[in-house]
Amino acid sequence: MLKGKTALITGASRGIGESIAIEFAKNHADVIINYYSDKHEAQKVVDKVKKYGVNCVAVQADVSKVDEVKRMADEIQKQFKKVDILVNNAGIVKDRTLKNMTLDEWHTVINTNLNGVFYVTKFILPLIPEGGRIISISSIVGQYGNFGQSNYAAAKAGIIGFTKSLSKELGKKKITVNAIAPGFVKTAITKDIPFFRKKLINHMIPLKEEAMPEDIATVAVFLASDKSRYITGAVINVDGGLAI
Ligand code: NAP
Repeated sequence: MLKGKTALITGASRGIGESIAIEFAKNHADVIINYYSDKHEAQKVVDKVKKYGVNCVAVQADVSKVDEVKRMADEIQKQFKKVDILVNNAGIVKDRTLKNMTLDEWHTVINTNLNGVFYVTKFILPLIPEGGRIISISSIVGQYGNFGQSNYAAAKAGIIGFTKSLSKELGKKKITVNAIAPGFVKTAITKDIPFFRKKLINHMIPLKEEAMPEDIATVAVFLASDKSRYITGAVINVDGGLAI
């Protein structure tokens, strides 16, 4: 579904980003893997993606630092000329109740999860041709909130407002801008949730299990493809029915 397209996925050295990279490669897209700290894991993803016969490179950049994002955009322009599909996936958590949250915990999450989406989209946009795709990974926490996650919820809600506004600006260029709001997905981010809390969450989910990264990645493939050409400004929940 993505033959001839080039995709940039931020935070693709593991988890949901890795899975999106692999599903895109299965659909014949060339893939640029952005990572922050884990060069070794990023290289492993590059090797897996290349097995599908597509071009793939890893580019290091901290999305929360505007200079690093500009340098990444320059590198990509030199090597690939265009980015048909941008997936803003990089994200972190630093959970604490507001009473105990430090300024650093607030700013680090906002800088990575929200300002990072702004920086990457702003400096990659000149490389996105007519008919391109921008997909950002929000969360049901941005729609409904969660105990101990006011920083994360604010950033993820910000992504939804950003997505809806940008879809109105870019529609005339046929660039679609959409968000995916996952529920609980089995990745490193959720691995520290205690066993009994996980059981309780799974009990609350109508489909009675957490999502696998591929459940998010297959929706990203659809949004990246021509089949979704008339969908823009949308937030697609992939949460097993949890947030209804
Ligand atoms: P993950 O397994 O922890 O992976 C996070 C990825 O983000 C890693 O590749 C990491 O790179 C990268 N990253 C972190 N900080 C970065 C920075 N400053 N600059 C560039 N890359 C950075 O997380 P995940 O569960 O796959 O989450 C992916 C996205 O889905 C996040 O936006 C998250 O908020 C969202 N989400 C996840 C869930 C869930 O339940 N898992 C639910 C809803 C939404 P390095 O390893 O190189 O540092």
